[in-house]
Amino acid sequence: MTASKIIGIDLGGTSIKFGILTLKGEVQDKWSIPTNILEDGKHIVPDIVASINHRLNLYNLDKSDFIGIGMGTPGSVNITKGTVKAAYNLNWGDEHEVGKPISEGVGLPFILDNDANVAALGERWVGAGENNPDVVFITLGTGVGGGIIAASELVHGVAGAGGEIGHICVEPNGFDCTCGNKGCLETVTSATGIVRLAHQFAEEYEGTSEIKAAIDNGDEVTSKDIFVAAEAGDKFSLSVVDKFAYYLGFASANLGSTLNPDSIVIGGGVSAAGEFLREKVEAYFKKYAFSTVRNTTKIKLAVLGNDAGIIGAASLALKFKGE
Ligand code: ZN
Repeated sequence: MTASKIIGIDLGGTSIKFGILTLKGEVQDKWSIPTNILEDGKHIVPDIVASINHRLNLYNLDKSDFIGIGMGTPGSVNITKGTVKAAYNLNWGDEHEVGKPISEGVGLPFILDNDANVAALGERWVGAGENNPDVVFITLGTGVGGGIIAASELVHGVAGAGGEIGHICVEPNGFDCTCGNKGCLETVTSATGIVRLAHQFAEEYEGTSEIKAAIDNGDEVTSKDIFVAAEAGDKFSLSVVDKFAYYLGFASANLGSTLNPDSIVIGGGVSAAGEFLREKVEAYFKKYAFSTVRNTTKIKLAVLGNDAGIIGAASLALKFKGE
């Protein structure tokens, strides 16, 4: 029989998620194991091999049913060599061999890419992107990541840094970023970024607000607290969310004017604020985007949640179809 399944792996710092998918992107089975980052992360690759082989045995699945394995990983990826480096949450600082041992250990072709790119592929394939050839994905979490798909291909650039949307400069003299620059999108639209904005606004705000009072008290305030208060009408929080939406809309407008994608999809934990956030981002996007872009590029919310990683990873392996 012809192979009709793909394996997708979403490698993260706390867990490794696996999925068995059809060639249409339907998840038939999924499971996860904890990531063992001890001893320079040397257990991770053998654990992945053992877990896949165990699962295939458990369900009497034959390798000939599969066209291949795709994986998303943190860090800097060399796709051709199948290696990863600078994945500090895995304890893989130096270049780490991943592709060859997994491919040989399971006995299937293997391909990998950066986790944000892979999530972008997932949302584009069966999520909000609706399998359109031109989709931009922005993920708002502890950091801000992204992936750009143009003419059905991921944009990698000359050194693999294509799609590093979190480091688009939105405030030339803004907050310090972990990358060494100032005012990157990540400094103001990550989960910690919006809290940073709230602290900045609290210094000058004169009205009454529970969130401002909590900040002035030194209590911990989360991005969720700020969105919830804004939605309930807290004026201070609304002004913070408005600035957040401005930065995201401004960056989206410039991405839109560069790429004119079908959609710019916003995902990640912070995007749980939903339509309340999306429409504010869209308003700023429309304000700053080039007219044709304003009328043709849509601002959407991601729909796949945590599954975007395994789905997008599996889609990488579609390239083995017919090989
Ligand atoms: Zn940066």
